[in-house]
Amino acid sequence: MTPDVRDRAGRPARVEAGQGDDCPIPATSWDRALHLIGQADEVALACHVTPDGDALGSMLAVAFVLRSMGKRVVASFGDRQFAVPRLLRFLPGQDMLVPPEAYPAAPELMIVFDSSTFERLGLLGTNAAMARELVVVDHHPSNAGFGTLSLIDAQAAATAMLAEQLVYRLGGRLDRDIATCLYAGLVTDTGSFRYSSTTPAVHQMAARLVATGLRTDEIARELWDRSPFGYLKVLAGALERVTLEHGPAGGLVWTYVTRVDRAAHGLPYSELEGLIDIVRRADEAEVAVVLKEDDQGDWQVSTRSKGTVDVAAVCVALGGGGHHKAAGYTSHDTVEETMAKFRHELRKVS
Ligand code: AMP
Ligand code: MN
Ligand code: MN
Repeated sequence: MTPDVRDRAGRPARVEAGQGDDCPIPATSWDRALHLIGQADEVALACHVTPDGDALGSMLAVAFVLRSMGKRVVASFGDRQFAVPRLLRFLPGQDMLVPPEAYPAAPELMIVFDSSTFERLGLLGTNAAMARELVVVDHHPSNAGFGTLSLIDAQAAATAMLAEQLVYRLGGRLDRDIATCLYAGLVTDTGSFRYSSTTPAVHQMAARLVATGLRTDEIARELWDRSPFGYLKVLAGALERVTLEHGPAGGLVWTYVTRVDRAAHGLPYSELEGLIDIVRRADEAEVAVVLKEDDQGDWQVSTRSKGTVDVAAVCVALGGGGHHKAAGYTSHDTVEETMAKFRHELRKVS
């Protein structure tokens, strides 16, 4: 299916995102995915816990197409307190979401998005383990392929690029709803087209999406330019205790937010997603870390590097995953112990 984007000479714009010579996903894998979907009456979709724009956007975009094909679709993510993060509530298609309790225990066909491990699926990890067929659509280099079929391209800037491929290959066409979901994934994971992952293919995909009539200004405002007032107070506390250390790999800047800090200002965990982007600004630091205590009392650790250090290697060693410059993991230790272990692993890769 060709989207309706043409250049000034009237030629169709290039549409083969994720399909070029450098795409590591073999045609046979895409064919197998189409076959599995063709056979299934019901398709169960999932993305990683506390979803970001790429996870939820990729999943909902594919959900729209599957629904238009007449499939029964359930889509979810395995958070204990199931709620779409406020900043993603503008995404269309949320009527297709069900809480983890209502998810099929052993799906015939399950497709998971933007998740590098079973653990990233949270409560739905068990359902994934029980699924007859498990298709993994992802772009994390640390993803070893934990399903029965992998659609993994570690070069892709966002899972949304692979989701777009799946939309076309299923015969879907980009409408504004699907484009909104995919665009949310693309802008989230490229930091609004600022990160080094922003290739020509990323901009070409953006052009196809924007051509459907998206209000990119409104999407940007929803994603980045609003917060509840309590966020400012929590941010103030986190910045008050931000620390700059001289680590093995150059500067290490870090801070933390407890659930008590959040409760004092009625702030949900998901509102902390952008905090790392403020902390990592420090010029003196090669590596930035933010420890965020979730509602269960575990620490969700966000890490970033300026490029010299591979934080994914550090986070994988600590049980997590991610990308060279952006990775994370979960810690059950105290703040001090978590940082001690982090420094220890950092030393090994520096
Ligand atoms: P974040 O800091 O939450 O924005 O995440 C940065 C990157 O690390 C993303 O690509 C995440 O998918 C990955 N990541 C974050 N937390 C975890 C975790 N607990 N396990 C595996 N990967 C993670
Ligand atoms: Mn993600
Ligand atoms: Mn992603």
